[in-house]
Amino acid sequence: MPELPEVETVRRGLAPAMEGQIIAQARVNRPDLRWPFPEHMSERLTGKRVLRLRRRSKYILGDLESGETLLIHLGMSGRMLISGDPLGQFVHKHPAPEKHDHVVFDMDNGARITFNDPRRFGAMDLFETEKAETHPLLASIGPEPLGNSFDESYLVAALANRNTPMKSALLDQKTVAGLGNIYVCEALFRSKIHPTRPARRVAKNRISRLVPVIRDVLSDAIEAGGSSLRDFRQADGELGYFQHRFDVYGREGDPCRTPGCTSTVRRIVQSGRSTFYCPTCQR
Ligand code: ZN
Repeated sequence: MPELPEVETVRRGLAPAMEGQIIAQARVNRPDLRWPFPEHMSERLTGKRVLRLRRRSKYILGDLESGETLLIHLGMSGRMLISGDPLGQFVHKHPAPEKHDHVVFDMDNGARITFNDPRRFGAMDLFETEKAETHPLLASIGPEPLGNSFDESYLVAALANRNTPMKSALLDQKTVAGLGNIYVCEALFRSKIHPTRPARRVAKNRISRLVPVIRDVLSDAIEAGGSSLRDFRQADGELGYFQHRFDVYGREGDPCRTPGCTSTVRRIVQSGRSTFYCPTCQR
């Protein structure tokens, strides 16, 4: 499932093909993904200029000149394919249509953006830009981890008196936006906090140190995504997933990477999802 760095990478990949451009034609090939598409979606998008693409949590938001915003969520398996871009950045010809191409945007600059999603957990919606902050999917989301309002005093206050395990507290989107299973595991490892430790029992100075760690973990991944963007322009034009080196995630039984630590990475299940951690380094 794409997490914040993957979504940010998709946004950065789409921006040169979409920002400032008019959607010459929006084709909607089925009535729904995870939820029904908004009414008259094709008509409301066709002929409209995309002013900018931004990201909130794991959602890509395209603000249109018409005063509406297009929300895109990649779900579990959603992918964006760019083809036919005349700017010379994307050298791929339009591919033959595939079975799971659900929405296709033909931009007036010749670029085609295809949303392909075999499992259909993705979503799209359209709403007034002014009402974005109160949209049901966005209203209760906490601060952006790379934004200014996510700081030490905020996180200390947000986790104070919470009996929830640290892993769950950080996965809670009200605590911080867009953090998922992979990057929570990595951030807890780097800050040496045990994933099952109740939030209220973690010292304030350790929670404070978590803020720059979370930013670093995400920034490193976004940087890796940026490298993959440069590669993908020569490859198949597909956005959304990239190889990244993790310290603990997916490394059950492998040696801990902390110098001098002789433990192996352990896997436990919390709230139905795998947690990877070092039982020696994390307390
Ligand atoms: Zn260790």
